[in-house]
Amino acid sequence: MYRTHTCGELRLADAGKEVTLAGWVQRVRDKGSLVWIDLRDRYGITQLFLQDGVSDPKLMEQARTFGREYVIQAKGTVIERESKNPNMPTGEIELRVSEFKLLNASKVPPFTIEDVSDGGDDLRMKYRYLDLRRNPVRKNLELRHRMAILVRNYLNEKNFLEIETPFMIKSTPEGARDFVVPSRMNPGEFYALPQSPQQYKQLLMVAGFDRYFQIVRCFRDEDLRADRQPEFTQIDCEMSFVEQEDVLQTFEGLAKHLFKEVKGLEFGQFPRMTWHDAMKYYGSDKPDIRFGMKFVELNDVVKGKGFSLFDNAELVVGICAEGCSEYTRKQLDGLTEFVKRPQVGAGGMVYVKYNTDGTFKSSVDKFYTPDDLKLVAEKFGAKPGDLMFILCGDAMKTRVQLNALRLEMGNQLGLRNPDVYAPLWVIDFPLLEWDEETQRYYAMHHPFTAPKPEDEALLDDPSKWGEIRANAYDIVMNGVEVGGGSIRIHDRVLQNKMFHTLGFTDEKAQEQFGFLMGAFEYGAPPHAGLAFGFDRLCSLFGGADSIRDFIAFPKNNAGRDVMSGSPSPISQEQLDELQIALNLKS
Ligand code: ASP
Repeated sequence: MYRTHTCGELRLADAGKEVTLAGWVQRVRDKGSLVWIDLRDRYGITQLFLQDGVSDPKLMEQARTFGREYVIQAKGTVIERESKNPNMPTGEIELRVSEFKLLNASKVPPFTIEDVSDGGDDLRMKYRYLDLRRNPVRKNLELRHRMAILVRNYLNEKNFLEIETPFMIKSTPEGARDFVVPSRMNPGEFYALPQSPQQYKQLLMVAGFDRYFQIVRCFRDEDLRADRQPEFTQIDCEMSFVEQEDVLQTFEGLAKHLFKEVKGLEFGQFPRMTWHDAMKYYGSDKPDIRFGMKFVELNDVVKGKGFSLFDNAELVVGICAEGCSEYTRKQLDGLTEFVKRPQVGAGGMVYVKYNTDGTFKSSVDKFYTPDDLKLVAEKFGAKPGDLMFILCGDAMKTRVQLNALRLEMGNQLGLRNPDVYAPLWVIDFPLLEWDEETQRYYAMHHPFTAPKPEDEALLDDPSKWGEIRANAYDIVMNGVEVGGGSIRIHDRVLQNKMFHTLGFTDEKAQEQFGFLMGAFEYGAPPHAGLAFGFDRLCSLFGGADSIRDFIAFPKNNAGRDVMSGSPSPISQEQLDELQIALNLKS
């Protein structure tokens, strides 16, 4: 037997027991007549102890040969510690060693395997298997495991079946870019890795499975950011014979279950906001509603006073930061710089200070009298001591810019506490989204999303396409989109109409989606679904921004696995077998 206990298990009640432990040497402290070794495994750390006059000198010599990360086995007696460590679960005991066995030596690790490591990001990614030995990283994966089990149990209770769908599928270039896999047996032909199991889960509904889920890997060849990985995991779900309300209730239930079990938090009904309101009041389709600072539109009180920037703008809109009227010149300049950064893209920013003595000070005092500014303040519902920020320009662009400023203010004022959770449903997304570059409409969610029945007739009038609302919804938490879905089109005629709207000819639609369309002719039930981004959900519950920390072996920002060195060239032989000739541009 390699071990009788784990390194996190022994307590004072075990004193006197003869035990065997196995694990990694975290460190050796050699005080000459006393030697301590911290032995670590997944479960914790136990202190091993040797002492001149009590321990065999040979054993003490052996202990001194162990380096960091050596794998050893230690036999001995559990004894009560003289100086106890209340910060460690095993801190009241130590193991007086009677026998060691070296199981495997280790090179000196390139960084310290401790809670706070001295290794930089790149180094830790290269030696990810060592990074994974560290507590914080291991804890993230433990959380992920726990959440996966909770999800499975919850959905199982609700009659969902977990069904696997293929990873090698037909490429459908709608949405993001596909990763493709060449087929040796069918030269010149390619599979695609699924961006999501969307069409398969809809086929499962046609097949009568009624409630499906899968914790499943998805692949999207997109530019990467901190919260994006080329392969990521969804909790993918689909249900038959349901309306939007059923879907929202079911998955709100799942989210509440997770909050309760993992965080001990209870919620009433999650608030709901239409996409239109989300954009109007927060400039974002995923508003962070942990704090207020809702947008206030000011066209009617600021126009016509001779300030041409406002006069010529489609929209003048602002936010009010409570209690910030004492902001210094430097702070205001900093915020102006912030909104002017290319990532935000505003031309500038107007501020109005509502001083505690009731007077006003603004960057547009030349154009606005104190009475004018009072009207502005009333619009905001501002009080003395508040500070208002105003942006102007094209309506949608300005809202998006103001969203960036609102979030920045939220950060500066400490209003975005990661321990506070504010879930929200955003509903009634637009069905279609215009793309300037290609001069056509794209499905905002995906082409299988149903329009709201009351907006369906607008599909016949191309001038109204931008106004059609979809039966689509996102679940948002703390400004992060953690999931989304829709009621699907299950009627072939409507689906055809949708494809036409998206610029597909009949042939093209048939070629791309023929199998799904065909299936719809054999009794497709009304159905709907949703997918959670599982990595994001885990990072949110774990209180971190990056999903990378919750994936055992993630890729870096260039899409590379620096540990294994992928992607990598393949041999000429492999290329020949696939009948692929490279034509590299650089
Ligand atoms: N397949 C969709 C997605 O990946 C989710 C859904 O509509 O169920 O976003």
